[in-house]
Amino acid sequence: MISTIIMSLIYMILISVIYFGKETISNSDNRIYKKIVYTNIIGLIIDILQYFSIKLGLGDYIVLLLAKAFLVYLNVWTFIFSYYVISINTKKSNALKKILTVLLFIATIIIVVLPINYYYDGKNKMYTYGYATDVMFFVGYAYMIICAISIISGLVKNKNKKIRQYIPFFFFILGGILEIIVQKTNPALIIVSSVETFITILMYFFIENPDVKMLKELELAKEHAEKANRAKSEFLSNMSHEIRTPLNAIVGFSECIKTEETLDDAMKDADDIIMASNTLLEIVNGILDISKIEANKMEIVNREYTLLPELQNISKLMIPRIGEKPIELKCDFAQDIPAVMYGDIGKIKEVITNILTNAVKYTEEGSINFTVSCINENDISSLVITIKDTGRGIRQEQIDSLFTKFNRLDEDKNTTLEGTGLGLAITKSFVEMMGGKIVVQSEYGKGSTFIVYLSQKIVKLHGEVNNNEIEELDDNASYSNSRVLVVDDNALNLKIIDKIIRKYDISTVLIKSGQECIDLIKGGEEFDLILMDDMMPVMRGTEAFKRLKEIPGFDTPVVALTANALSGMRESYLKDGFDDYLAKPIDKKELLRVLKDYLNNHKASKSKRINNTIELLKEDLNKSEEEIETLDSKPSKPVTSTSFDDSPRILIVDDNSLNIKITEKLLKNYNFVLEEALSGKECIEKVKKATYSLIFMDYMMPEMNGIETLNKLKEIPGFNTKVVALTADAINGARERFLKAGFDEYISKPVDRKLLEEVIAEFILEKTRENRFPTEWSDLSKDIDSNKISNSDNSNIVLNTDYLIKNGIEYGRALELLGDNEMYNDT
Ligand code: ADP
Repeated sequence: MISTIIMSLIYMILISVIYFGKETISNSDNRIYKKIVYTNIIGLIIDILQYFSIKLGLGDYIVLLLAKAFLVYLNVWTFIFSYYVISINTKKSNALKKILTVLLFIATIIIVVLPINYYYDGKNKMYTYGYATDVMFFVGYAYMIICAISIISGLVKNKNKKIRQYIPFFFFILGGILEIIVQKTNPALIIVSSVETFITILMYFFIENPDVKMLKELELAKEHAEKANRAKSEFLSNMSHEIRTPLNAIVGFSECIKTEETLDDAMKDADDIIMASNTLLEIVNGILDISKIEANKMEIVNREYTLLPELQNISKLMIPRIGEKPIELKCDFAQDIPAVMYGDIGKIKEVITNILTNAVKYTEEGSINFTVSCINENDISSLVITIKDTGRGIRQEQIDSLFTKFNRLDEDKNTTLEGTGLGLAITKSFVEMMGGKIVVQSEYGKGSTFIVYLSQKIVKLHGEVNNNEIEELDDNASYSNSRVLVVDDNALNLKIIDKIIRKYDISTVLIKSGQECIDLIKGGEEFDLILMDDMMPVMRGTEAFKRLKEIPGFDTPVVALTANALSGMRESYLKDGFDDYLAKPIDKKELLRVLKDYLNNHKASKSKRINNTIELLKEDLNKSEEEIETLDSKPSKPVTSTSFDDSPRILIVDDNSLNIKITEKLLKNYNFVLEEALSGKECIEKVKKATYSLIFMDYMMPEMNGIETLNKLKEIPGFNTKVVALTADAINGARERFLKAGFDEYISKPVDRKLLEEVIAEFILEKTRENRFPTEWSDLSKDIDSNKISNSDNSNIVLNTDYLIKNGIEYGRALELLGDNEMYNDT
């Protein structure tokens, strides 16, 4: 028997070590449980002492004292246990708890006062019965009944109560019954302390004692969630504020326009409206980017790319932004930048453009140094992109908050500068998403330096890096005896090609129609190469080519020129019998490649005849140039022989006639024939009857949406018109979605005029070139002459381009298309 009690004590000590060794939260369950543990240990010690005091014959008084102490312990333990059971139901003190406490005191007094008898089995005396013991048992049953009442009332009131917490109590009842049986059968055996130990240990597993560590983590998670929630609300309120600001301007200036007295004032208001609208659009795009970043939906799209031309492009695009500010943009790109790398060039471009735009925005005078260097190691190129300005700088204490969204420093100074405060937040996210780092150094009032460190995979270290690669034709081969016939109804296109080809001493004959071409060949003219535009009025290039082939002995290579750059077009032209295909706008490199290919092969077999016709034709060309110059006097009349019917026909498909009206307004400066269709069905009917140069198509239309309409259009035999999606659907991925659906381009509403112009230039170039020149065309060229435009080399570009910006000319893009400043000025 004693061994059971000692074992119980050992277990109890172990459980105490575990229980007290762990951090516990201070709740009533834990507080009560601690008391039960202490009482239990004391009880076991008393029990052991009692055993040994009898064993060692320590005198009756001591044995009696210990026996009474043990009874008091039993009473106290049962009281605390019952108190715990009632506490499960109610933490507050209630009538049951009060009865319990009264019982405890009365029972303790009675137990101490009343006698206790011992049982003697011939060997051992065991104090196991007598009045005191009876009272003890009686009180014990009373506690049990109180507990039962509490449990039942608790279950009635609250059905969800966790039954598992009552499990120790059920064992307590079982233990009580067991004890009575044992006592009746073997009075010398006292198992009560072991039963209580067992229940105490059992309670350890059932009391509500959540893991404190877990609790702390939960608390932390809660804090995070609350913080994120706060940030979201802040973001929303900021966003609403940021959007309201330009909106206010738009509404306000629109009101003003109504009351302005002069057209000039109204125009100024309109300029402000456009500026505010662009800011608004920038904000919406920025927000889309930010929300995509925050939802972890922004993806890195890696592909192979060549960095150097992209860098040159970005710097060119900065020039119009600099405008009239006395700022020198100095570019220095390392020579060892790998030819081909693998990464997300779109995001890299956005990062650089953002930082450069800020440098231009926040610098009044001085210089902006744009440097890109790299360290190439194994197959990784570590790029260092540095943009240093001499602008207003950033205060040291503000550098940390620089990358916070919607945070604009020196708000008071910023009032006149457009901006959203989103740029750098997006920039930083992009850089970090690509595994890079962005660092800012700045001295307030003196300037700032932004450095981006970025590692990119090298695909090809050396190779075709710059655009000048095929700038020159073979030195050994001479082309001076070659003759090239260029057929294009557009005088400017003729001029561009002529300009490029003439550099190589190649004689050119420039004509404006298929018929003239046929007449020339029939008249016995011989050429080494014919460059034939396809989209020409009266007779298309393909038709002219067909007729040329019918001329006996005709074997000149003919290359198709067209703005129709759909995939598969090349194959289609080659199938028609053309020798090659050049997409417009003409890429200088491509043109030189064609010359290289065809002049070398063809010229040896040809004898050349120079004919007066050339001079005649050139005169003709000059005449058409004069016509362009006189445009201002007859602005609405199309140039050259093109009649109104020859103007490109554009079909605008939208279910909302107001939207159609807006698009028409945007296109009104061109001499296009604009037609409208208010539904997909109407569009299909119209396309079946007439041919259009371009179709602008809305997406959200009743009955048949834009994509369905497009699919139906494509089923029409011979349909190859470019279709541009023009929709308010501006969520991320919309562009990809529309292009995937088969649209040739995607423009989101509100329409960015520049983008619209680009699309038109790209898709119906030949007509638009003639028709879109501002009426002050000749003035423009004069102005350009008087402006000092210098582009000494790539690393140092200084330009005064105010006029260009005012007239909506993209100098960078123009240079890209035309090749050099000389050509640009000519144009
Ligand atoms: P914003 O649209 O206002 O330019 P950004 O996120 O791009 O937004 O920049 C946040 C703020 O950082 C700007 O409002 C400006 O105060 C400051 N800043 C950014 N770049 C520069 C710079 N090169 N020189 C001085 N201040 C700058």
